Amino acid sequence: MFETGIEKVIEVKVPNPLGDRYYITTITPIKNNENRVTLVICSSKDITERKRMEEALSESEAQIKAFMNYVPALIMIKDKDFRPIFSNEALKKTFPFEKWENKTPYETYESDLADYVYKTDKEAIEEGSIQYEDTWEDRFGRVRNFWTQKFRIDFPNKEPMLGAIIMDITERKRNEEILNIQYNIAYAMATVKSFEEVIDVVRIELGRLVDTKNFYVALYDEKTGMLHAVNERDEKDNLPSWPAEKSLTGYVIKHNKTMLIDNEEFNRLINSGEVDVIGEPSEIWLGVPIRINEKPIGAICVQSYEREDLYDETGAAVLEMIANQLSAYIERKTAIDKLSESEDKFRSFAELAPFAIMIYQGDYWVYTNPAGESITGYTAEELYKQRYWEVVGSKFTEMIKLRGKQRQAKELMESSYEFSIVAKDGTEKWVYLTGRPITYLGKPAGFISVVDITERKMMERELIEAKQKAEEMNRIKSYFFANMSHELRTPFMPIMGYAELLASTLSDPDEKEMAEAILFSSRRLTETLKNVLDLTRLEFDKIEIVKTNFNLILIINEIYYLFKETAKKKGIELKTNYTTDILMCYTEEQFIREILTNFVSNAIKFTSEGFVEIKAEIITENNTEFIVICVKDTGIGIPQKKQAVIWDEFRQVSEGTTRNFQGSGLGLAIVKRYSEMIDAEVYVESEEEKGSEFYLKIKL
Ligand code: ADP
Repeated sequence: MFETGIEKVIEVKVPNPLGDRYYITTITPIKNNENRVTLVICSSKDITERKRMEEALSESEAQIKAFMNYVPALIMIKDKDFRPIFSNEALKKTFPFEKWENKTPYETYESDLADYVYKTDKEAIEEGSIQYEDTWEDRFGRVRNFWTQKFRIDFPNKEPMLGAIIMDITERKRNEEILNIQYNIAYAMATVKSFEEVIDVVRIELGRLVDTKNFYVALYDEKTGMLHAVNERDEKDNLPSWPAEKSLTGYVIKHNKTMLIDNEEFNRLINSGEVDVIGEPSEIWLGVPIRINEKPIGAICVQSYEREDLYDETGAAVLEMIANQLSAYIERKTAIDKLSESEDKFRSFAELAPFAIMIYQGDYWVYTNPAGESITGYTAEELYKQRYWEVVGSKFTEMIKLRGKQRQAKELMESSYEFSIVAKDGTEKWVYLTGRPITYLGKPAGFISVVDITERKMMERELIEAKQKAEEMNRIKSYFFANMSHELRTPFMPIMGYAELLASTLSDPDEKEMAEAILFSSRRLTETLKNVLDLTRLEFDKIEIVKTNFNLILIINEIYYLFKETAKKKGIELKTNYTTDILMCYTEEQFIREILTNFVSNAIKFTSEGFVEIKAEIITENNTEFIVICVKDTGIGIPQKKQAVIWDEFRQVSEGTTRNFQGSGLGLAIVKRYSEMIDAEVYVESEEEKGSEFYLKIKL
């Protein structure tokens, strides 16, 4: 100081345990005449308070600065003439602040925009604060959405300044828009009938975020390998369908992923042979697969012939979102189509079914077809108010209640049964029900079909009554015959006796013939009477079987001699055929005689040329021996379908008025009964026009 002679102001910090203190000290040199410093004056001022305030201020300034740079908002301060004088880092990143700094709106923008900015700035000053949303082009030329709050900053003795807080709300807006689009598409999907209309809505809605001047949805037909466009909109092409192979859409489907293809990529794909040029090539092409269960079934595509930058990752994301929505829709629609198809089928089946189809759930009816209405006599509405057992006849109510519950609980039970119901008009109706448990509208229910069997039941009842009556009549008839046949037979003894006598004594041929006719008819009548008597005895009386040991050959011979003459008279040969003279049998001898007599007499009756043979032999079947007697003829034979009925009473092959042969139709019925009584078997083998073989098979 003494050397330089220049005044100096210094800040001095004086450490102090109670807080450092600061002084500002001015050292003023005092010079003498020779210009030499002889004296130095130091004056100190305590600036501790000021110092403290300054420190605090710069600290808060730093804080404000930091705050401004870290908040996600864009912040700008303008002076009283609306010249931007401050901006935070965020704003500088988004907007070209350097072009705006210290310039009034009119110096920065062209008049329209300048007017707009000036107006809002002014309004904020006047109002104190305003908020609004608008769109601005950012420093990269992208149009984005912003929310802005402008406010007045007041100073005590200065003109106010303008603050602006700006938020980039493009993403939020976009999400809102996407939600909106999704909602509108979903609404269309729910309300619009055709797939084409839905795709139209998709195109229009999608157009709010993505350029859809050239847009199509293509569905892939796996069988033909073709792609079919739904609602194609294109400035240049119009292809309703095209082969998937080597097309860009096919490429998307094949790789099952989103493809954003610009010129360069397109050329690469062409050169590698993966795709061919189909239609007009575009500057950029974007395709997103539509999938069902991860499997691509088509694609949604947009393209531009002009601007390569029209689509990017964001556009692809939007398209993907819509493709997802479309997948869900297609999946649901196919399911619904199938469902409604099967529902339609069920409905028309149920509506037309001639039997009732009804569903009950819990206690109440929930469905009936028209047949259900007509069987019960109640309308569907009336039925739906009823518990399902109410229509059932009182004696079955408990059973139906129980089974109905069991069915809904899927318990194992009989699925079909008969019972009666009481229709609305009070009539009792018999029904046959078949039921099974089902799930109806997500809950257990009972499905039943019901047939009206009232008529069948009536018939059954009548039949039972008729049968009882017939049985009764039969008993009376048998009783009557048992008593009457003896009475009837006795008078024939003298008639036949005298007729025979007359026939042998009369010489006049005409008279002789008359006597023979009397004899013949009487014989026939007694034979019938005998049969009737036998049958009634069999039916009515308890016949005791007396088994004896006898030689069957003897019986055969006996019958042979009995019929030999009759056969001869008819011009046919009666013969026997056996290898042994003794064939012992232990059974009711009389029955065997009756059976064989019947066989042989029939054989002769129904044979006009050839022979009748009685054959006997022993056969072994499953280690058991049988005697089989066969009466074979070369007569008219018995048609296959008649072979069973001839064993019934009064049944003959030629019945009714066209009968050619005399007889009562009782013989074989008696034979059958006899054979059953002695555990023997009778059966016939016969061929029409060729002859018959009647068998008697006796266990040895
Ligand atoms: P019918 O008194 O009428 O002979 P049958 O009960 O003995 O009564 O026989 C019933 C029917 O079986 C006969 O009417 C005939 O149509 C048929 N029939 C029985 N035996 C023979 C046979 N050997 N050849 C052809 N038809 C026969």
